[in-house]
Amino acid sequence: MRRDDLLDLNDILQHPGRQLSVEVSTELADEEDLDLVKPLEGVLDAISTGNLLLITGEFTTRAVVECARCSGPIETDITFEIDEQFPVVGVPSSMSHQDFAKVEADEPYPLFEGNNLMVEVLLRQNLLLNFPVQPLCAFGWEGECPVAKERGVAKGTSGAGRTEFEKLKNLVEGSEG
Ligand SMILES: [Zn+2]
Repeated sequence: MRRDDLLDLNDILQHPGRQLSVEVSTELADEEDLDLVKPLEGVLDAISTGNLLLITGEFTTRAVVECARCSGPIETDITFEIDEQFPVVGVPSSMSHQDFAKVEADEPYPLFEGNNLMVEVLLRQNLLLNFPVQPLCAFGWEGECPVAKERGVAKGTSGAGRTEFEKLKNLVEGSEG
């Protein structure tokens, strides 16, 4: 179990109005589906209003993505903002001797361990949301992209669709005959 990406937010949760600001730099090394050329870097700010934990920040990285047309690799800068709110329950211990404030996140995946934020999970989710939807290499949709051209020819001559149809046809004929 990795613990080094946990950010302890207990102090600000027990002291509404107190601000926490941390610089974060991570390579998200555990992620096989992400190909980062540079570490993901930015600043996270956290503050509690008493019943809401507000987490904001701005992050940048550089990643390798696939061209939507030719699947060739493209390096692209990605910058995104984080603006999240999580419900807080309980009375902050700075105002009560019996109780304490606790984050009660209702995300479909675990984002907190007690009052510790799992920073890399939050960053990964936000990074994926901000990935370019249809990145294109220098040739774009219309240019004479040699890779796309090659793939187009290969597609035209392989007859993959036809082979699938033949298989289906044989199956149907076999079952009936
Ligand atoms: Zn391309």
